[in-house]
Amino acid sequence: MGSTRLYSKGRVLGHKRAKRNSRPNTSLIQIEGVANKEDAQFYLGKRIAYVYKAKREIQGSKIRVIWGRVTRPHGSSGVVKSKFRSNLPPRAFGASVRVDPFNLESLLTEEEIAISPQPAAQMCMTQQENLLPRVLKGWRTEEIDHDILPEMGKLGLLGPTIQGYGCAGVSNVAYGLIAREIERVDSGYRSTASVQSSLVMHPMNEFGSEAQKEKYLPRLAKGELVGAFGLTEPNHGSDPAGMETTAEEVDGGFVLNGSKTWITNAPFADVFIIWARCKWDGKVRGFILDKGLKGLSAPAIKNKVALRASVTGSIFMDSVKVSHDALLPKSKGLGSPFSCLNSARFGISWGVMGALEDCIERTRAYALERHQFNRPLASFQLVQKKLVDAHTEVALGLQASLQVGRLKE
Ligand SMILES: Cc1cc2nc3c(=O)[nH]c(=O)nc-3n(C[C@H](O)[C@H](O)[C@H](O)COP(=O)(O)OP(=O)(O)OC[C@H]3O[C@@H](n4cnc5c(N)ncnc54)[C@H](O)[C@@H]3O)c2cc1C
Repeated sequence: MGSTRLYSKGRVLGHKRAKRNSRPNTSLIQIEGVANKEDAQFYLGKRIAYVYKAKREIQGSKIRVIWGRVTRPHGSSGVVKSKFRSNLPPRAFGASVRVDPFNLESLLTEEEIAISPQPAAQMCMTQQENLLPRVLKGWRTEEIDHDILPEMGKLGLLGPTIQGYGCAGVSNVAYGLIAREIERVDSGYRSTASVQSSLVMHPMNEFGSEAQKEKYLPRLAKGELVGAFGLTEPNHGSDPAGMETTAEEVDGGFVLNGSKTWITNAPFADVFIIWARCKWDGKVRGFILDKGLKGLSAPAIKNKVALRASVTGSIFMDSVKVSHDALLPKSKGLGSPFSCLNSARFGISWGVMGALEDCIERTRAYALERHQFNRPLASFQLVQKKLVDAHTEVALGLQASLQVGRLKE
């Protein structure tokens, strides 16, 4: 029973058309971690989906599933998978009991609703179904599946606010919604995606030359290239003003010396945005360094206790020579890397809400299933209060992030 609960999250595993005795508008739907018909009904949404028959099964000793027959709200002939999906309420997909007391969706544009996938159908299915099974391995091995960024690229999730260069060109709020979805699965995956979008593509777009944008952005958007952002140094974390990494102008370009640490994606990055103090005027500027340059190395930092599914490393630069083309020409001063951090932090503000929502959902499912004193834990007011408080924080947090996003536009 203990292991059963670990898998309790009301996740829809699949659905198919009922073959025999099927009524018009019905499909079979299989939900993981649902203890009874009422729970299944809750996950599917009482208003427009109706479970009228359910059967509990134990698969192995780990996963409890329920098969219910679901009445679809519209359409009768032929179950078109995507149509079926889009007709169901958001919480029918992914690990999704989304309580939305302020009706966040009513404040989103059509484009944002589409990208946040209503807010589950397209992307949550993709992310939850594809990312979730991989995160356990990533956590254990501290390695990232190298298909993940290209998969995100295919969905248009990388550098999504950038106009042109193969990027989606959507709003900041849409970018936040993407971060929320990814971080529902894992903060490390969100970190990987945030670095690519906000810390690598954003500075190229803001401070780069047209040639740099043409060269790097389309491939970064597809996830063909992986980027890393080197600001933090061993002696300067919260206060990068003390930066020791230097850039010196020499014949034909610049020479960079210094080291960076705690750099997301560094060990497998193809391209590095390096922030260095320029010897000629003391200002901090950004440089684009390609993997493989002489004197450039990026070893992994192992044995993290958090964000283990995201790869982190150091960057060492021992007289790394680059041409003049490597300088981000419009970067000048610490305001440039800080604008990248602002963009990343905005996404993180949405991401953490996704993580909290997932925690609430899992806690709720457990509290419904776990019985003590002959009652589900969820029936005790103290448990309910904690869940309600957490829901309140999410609801307020999402509104705050939304407003920041609107002000950012
Ligand atoms: C998993 C991971 C990934 C990262 N990825 C990147 C990356 O891709 N690129 C990059 O450049 N950096 C990255 N970082 C580095 C990150 O930005 C730094 O860890 C962060 O800036 C803090 O620096 P520090 O670790 O040196 O801590 P310190 O600056 O030494 O701070 C230590 C503690 O003191 C507190 N503190 C510091 N100053 C103050 C103050 N003024 N008032 C009160 N408390 C204070 C801090 O909150 C912290 O608790 C990453 C870090 C981690 C853990």
